[in-house]
Amino acid sequence: MQNKDIKALKDPMGAAILDYFKNGRAAKLRVFSSQFDEDEIPVEELFREYEQMPYLEKMALGLSRGQILDVGAGSGCHSLALQKMGKSATAIDISPLAVSVMRERGLDARQVDLFDESFTGNYDTILMLMNGSGIIGTIDNMPKFFSRMRQLLAPDGFILMDSSDLKYLYEDEDGSFEIDLAADYYGQLDYRMQYKNIKGEVFDWLYIDFQTLSYHAGQNGFKAELVAEGEHYDYLAKLSLS
Ligand code: SAH
Repeated sequence: MQNKDIKALKDPMGAAILDYFKNGRAAKLRVFSSQFDEDEIPVEELFREYEQMPYLEKMALGLSRGQILDVGAGSGCHSLALQKMGKSATAIDISPLAVSVMRERGLDARQVDLFDESFTGNYDTILMLMNGSGIIGTIDNMPKFFSRMRQLLAPDGFILMDSSDLKYLYEDEDGSFEIDLAADYYGQLDYRMQYKNIKGEVFDWLYIDFQTLSYHAGQNGFKAELVAEGEHYDYLAKLSLS
C-alpha cells in the first residue's frame, strides 16, 4: 500500500478533493449527523474560483492583508485567489490529501491541526471561511480557540470568520422558534463524512450566531465586528484583540 493510500483511509474530504483535482469530477461526499438527515458536500464547490464565491467570501479576501493564514483551507481556493491578488497566504489543513493537492496547486500548504501549538506564527489576517467557526467545534472550546488565536496573531492582526445562525432550522410555521434552552447550544453539531468506502471519524462542528460569538469574544479579550450579512442567516465577522 502506498503512503497516500494509508493516509486516505480516514480522510474522506481529502480523498474527494484529490479525486476532483486529478479527474475533474468526484463521487458523492456524504455528511452524516445525529441531529440531521444525510447531506452532501458538492465537491466542485470546494474548487470555486473567485467569481463563483459568495459575496461574504469576496469581502473577506478583499479585507485580508499582510501575512495571511488560511485555516482549514480545503482545496486552497481562497489561498489561490489571494495569490492571484498578489497577497501572501499560508494554507493549513488537517487533511493530508488536501494538503498534497494544495502543494500541487502551487500553494504554501502545511498539514497542521489549528490547535497544535507546535505550529507558530505571527499573522496579520487569519481566514476561516465556509462556516469557518466550525473548526472551533463546541462552545466549550471558545477559551482554547481564542488563546490559540492570541498565539498566532500579530498585535494588530484580525480573524475573518463566516458562520450562520442555525435558528432557522428550528422555526415553526408561525415564525416562532422552538429551541430547547436546556440543551447544548443549537448550532453545535456532530458530523461524520464518507467518500466512497472511506469513512472519517465523528467530529464536532460549530455554527454560531453573531451575538453568541460576540459574547464569547468579549469573555476572551477579543472584540467582534459584524462586517456584513449574507442572504440566509449567514454573516462575516472580524475578530480582533480588544
Ligand atoms: N475553507 C475551505 C474548506 C472548508 S471545509 C473552503 O472554503 O472551501 C473545512 C476544512 O477544514 C476541511 O478541509 C478540514 O479538513 C479542515 N479542518 C477541520 N478541522 C481542522 C483543524 N482543527 N485544523 C485545520 N484544518 C481543519
